[in-house]
Amino acid sequence: MNPDARHLHTHSMRYIEPHAHMVSRVTDDYERMALAGCEVVCEPAFWAGFDRSSAAGFYDYFCQLTEHEPKRAARFGLKHFSWLCINPKEAEDVKLAAEVIALIPEFLDRPNVLGIGEIGLNKNSRNELKVLEMHVELAAQHNQLVLVHTPHLEDKLKGTRLILEVLKSDKRIHPERVIIDHVEEHTVGLVLDAGFWAGMTLYPETKCSPARAVDILETHGQKQIWLNSACDWGVSDPLAVPKTALEMKKRGHQAAAIDKVIYQNPQRFLGQCPKFKNR
Ligand SMILES: [Zn+2]
Repeated sequence: MNPDARHLHTHSMRYIEPHAHMVSRVTDDYERMALAGCEVVCEPAFWAGFDRSSAAGFYDYFCQLTEHEPKRAARFGLKHFSWLCINPKEAEDVKLAAEVIALIPEFLDRPNVLGIGEIGLNKNSRNELKVLEMHVELAAQHNQLVLVHTPHLEDKLKGTRLILEVLKSDKRIHPERVIIDHVEEHTVGLVLDAGFWAGMTLYPETKCSPARAVDILETHGQKQIWLNSACDWGVSDPLAVPKTALEMKKRGHQAAAIDKVIYQNPQRFLGQCPKFKNR
């Protein structure tokens, strides 16, 4: 085998998909992910693509995330974990948000629940900020890991700054137990310098492409960064993480360095929740 071909070998690859909205994906996606080397998939609570009409809609969603979805994943040998919250896109209604947040504690002891997420901001509105603070309070009270969504496009830098301010102002929140997701070139430094973890979301059309993600890894190092597909009901790719690993291989990154980014890093962050290790 010539060295180039050996370089591109992928069948021994293992990875963790730390951010995927599997309730919106078909069962075949689980199979494809398992075939590509996925061992664990983690699912933050998200917007359904339409606004839910009541807290009861969220109750059912939390049951889906904690009871039904792990069984679907298990059919393909995949471990499934989840994060709970009311997502920033539905956080404009503060009264509804308070009702949903009041439901969460009874789910926190379930075996696949890792923490509170994906919380954050969408349009950086006053109400969204209020709901973000309510979630941070919930996480602090129950000593939970936190997964944060940052806004897209022109709102991202301002939103990331606002989110970091809220998190840093609560002394009960430890930055190494918080991941700030959807970072890009102009926000990754802010996040890492403050001691938080950074997530890079690989989207086929918007956000980070695999090539951009690898550029960022080469610039900012790999210490507290993970990659995810954030695949959902929109245009997205459940295999974005292994495809980015392939991009790393093509550029000459060693197998050990790739394994660190796509397996060991998420394992290290998520392993701060004892349930992640025990399952
Ligand atoms: Zn998401």
